[in-house]
Amino acid sequence: MLRLGVIALVVTGVAIAVVAGRSTKAEPSRPACDGFDFPVGAPDGVGYYDAQRFGENAHLGNDWNGTGGTDTDLGDPVYAVSSGVVTAAIDHGGGWGNVVRIAHPCGVESLYAHLDVIGVDVGMAVRRGQQIGTIGDAHGRYRAHLHFELRDRPLPLGEGYSQFHNGYLDPTSYIRAHRPTASN
Ligand SMILES: [Zn+2]
Repeated sequence: MLRLGVIALVVTGVAIAVVAGRSTKAEPSRPACDGFDFPVGAPDGVGYYDAQRFGENAHLGNDWNGTGGTDTDLGDPVYAVSSGVVTAAIDHGGGWGNVVRIAHPCGVESLYAHLDVIGVDVGMAVRRGQQIGTIGDAHGRYRAHLHFELRDRPLPLGEGYSQFHNGYLDPTSYIRAHRPTASN
């Protein structure tokens, strides 16, 4: 009986070890993003201000302008806010003009509109802080500025304005809460 008991204990122990080994195996999960910087004046947005905040007039993004005023920011660099893959680099015309969209590994999508020049192609992997285009005016439709959106998942192009914010992130708040760390 004693011998059987020892064997039972050993068998039970092995079973527990196997189960424990399985339970410590990482669950499949979304990879992390490598932190977020501002899309102009990177990394901190120095030299620019948000002329129309998220939610103001039902705005779904930020309108970044140079502190020099008028069109002094025309042609200034626009940077990827986080590393990812370019999913759109196209002239939508109308109120959008040239648009770049980037899918980030944590599921967030960034959108950069009214660009003067598009500097990337669809499918290209970009790093945080890499220039992806320049500030434009949507073919003369506006004073030059960057319309910038962040979405918590890839969304249709949208209208830039809506009372419904579902899926849209407040870009400045999100970037401030997800700055790069020493490890990324
Ligand atoms: Zn805008």
